[in-house]
Amino acid sequence: MKNVVLLGSTGSIGTSALNVVADLPDRLRIVGLAACTSVQPLIQQSLQHRPEAVCLFDETRMPEVRDVLGAGTRVVGGAQGLVELATWPSADVVLIAIVGTAGLQPALAAIRAGKDIAVASKEILVMAGEIVMDEARKYGVRVLAVDSEHSAIFQCLDGKPQNSVRTLWLTASGGPFRLTPKSEFPSITVERALKHPSWVMGRKITIDSASLFNKGLEMIEARWLFDIEMARVQVVVHPQSVVHSMVEYVDGSILAQLSTPDMCLPIQYALLYPERVRSDRVQTNLAKLGTLTFEEPDLDRFPALTLARRAGEIGGTMPAVLNASNEVAVEAFCEDRLSFGGIAETVARVLDQHEAKKRPELEEILEADLWARRAAKKAVAARPVLC
Ligand code: NDP
Repeated sequence: MKNVVLLGSTGSIGTSALNVVADLPDRLRIVGLAACTSVQPLIQQSLQHRPEAVCLFDETRMPEVRDVLGAGTRVVGGAQGLVELATWPSADVVLIAIVGTAGLQPALAAIRAGKDIAVASKEILVMAGEIVMDEARKYGVRVLAVDSEHSAIFQCLDGKPQNSVRTLWLTASGGPFRLTPKSEFPSITVERALKHPSWVMGRKITIDSASLFNKGLEMIEARWLFDIEMARVQVVVHPQSVVHSMVEYVDGSILAQLSTPDMCLPIQYALLYPERVRSDRVQTNLAKLGTLTFEEPDLDRFPALTLARRAGEIGGTMPAVLNASNEVAVEAFCEDRLSFGGIAETVARVLDQHEAKKRPELEEILEADLWARRAAKKAVAARPVLC
């Protein structure tokens, strides 16, 4: 039996994780749940899974949760509450599925408390991958990938050393605008960008999948998770989203992990690692799928990949700046204050203005994050309809 703390339980990954736990009641138990503001869903989940502790980031609404759950459940709030859950004594593994950067401090706290972490929140590894992986090595805990691409690579690597790898191939669906001509990009609406062809996900990651920033962030995530330089992390577009990613070895052999797309599979793999446990949730009929295709990403229409590679290669505080400026630009796009093409334009401007600090401390990364948010807001305000 593994005891799980789930941060971000009311989101897309969070609800899939709870389905996995409900499927395997004799293998997985929820001991902590956390959300930001979704009071009623958090209460319903708590009544079903009976965790020992619950965190609501929005502290003003904690009394509503306390009233329903009663004295048997500890109810905490705010950033401190997230850290309390991440270090909860009975937890074996902490699944971090909070959108944005709020998961970083709890991730580090969990590692320092000797817990394995399962990471969905790629922002954590993009911003502070070097620090997170160094701390995990120091405390002897695992950092388990939940992102389907990184889970695929982890499964294909299966403990092989980094020097046996020629290239890690991340697959990308190409998003809803894979075939959209550049001339139509200025008219892309939020509604269209939110229609992902193969995955149902939270709002921010869906927009990032449309711009390919998600794949850019994943390249940096892979660089840290698998301790490999950016040049050996490549992207290939695979619209069917059946091959979740691949490892090309030095002898030319390529290993891939395949299944119909369903996040329950990588979540279960991470939570129960190293065991494989029976689940009938994912069934893949290759004959029915018929054709699997691959193509080069179009770097002209999707500059996010080039920007992310540049940030990853420079390293230091640059990836945190990429991540933060993208977050601000996506928010502006979602509020109709910026065009779709303006997202990459904004990020490029902010990267140009930043002087990266090498091997930064956590405080310096957090400072760079704040600086980038301010710079991105300025860039958006200065040219609201960048294309
Ligand atoms: P959602 O937007 O669906 O959910 C986000 C979750 O985080 C919600 O439970 C939200 O709570 C919670 N949350 C946000 N801020 C805080 C906070 N400060 N404290 C506590 N909880 C907070 O996002 P997704 O599930 O799609 O994505 C989560 C992460 O996983 C992202 O980093 C994403 O990139 C990554 N990911 C997602 C995949 C997917 O298929 N969805 C695939 C791979 C990675 P509330 O409901 O109260 O707002």
